[in-house]
Amino acid sequence: MDMHTAYLSIGSNMGDREENLRSAIDLLNADEAIEVTKCANIYETEPVGYDDQPYFLNTCLELKTSLDPYSLLKVCQKIENDLHRVRIIRNGPRTIDLDILLYDDLISYDPILTIPHPRMYERAFVLYPLKDITDYSGKIPEDKSVKLVDEPYI
Ligand code: AMP
Repeated sequence: MDMHTAYLSIGSNMGDREENLRSAIDLLNADEAIEVTKCANIYETEPVGYDDQPYFLNTCLELKTSLDPYSLLKVCQKIENDLHRVRIIRNGPRTIDLDILLYDDLISYDPILTIPHPRMYERAFVLYPLKDITDYSGKIPEDKSVKLVDEPYI
């Protein structure tokens, strides 16, 4: 079987944020085609885009998977639905958000699945945790606060 390496950004700012992150990791691991192999530190981050909402908990995950990128996206979207993501305002509060940042060395310009994730390099809440689990050494924007709050969950 062809195995691939993907990096996800996960975040939550509604309900029990920590429990939501843990549940997302558990649900990913529950898929027999996915293994979560690394989890970054957990950060509390200032919201980006729409300011009048609670702070997020964010982290990044490394996965090994036999799924193609679109199948992986479907799994991520199902987990968002299963964890009752409520989205009333664009960029507003969400129970859980899963974004695919990188998938092997794939470059995709499809709006359904853009890889690398088109806004990842503007987002400190993505780059701080990503740096924990990759050799990313590029610039990190400092306009929003990102505070280390916890050790990796796995
Ligand atoms: P969001 O509300 O920010 O989670 O965006 C969800 C939408 O972004 C979905 O319609 C996806 O098809 C699309 N999308 C494009 N690229 C990606 C990506 N790399 N990871 C996750 N969703 C993506």
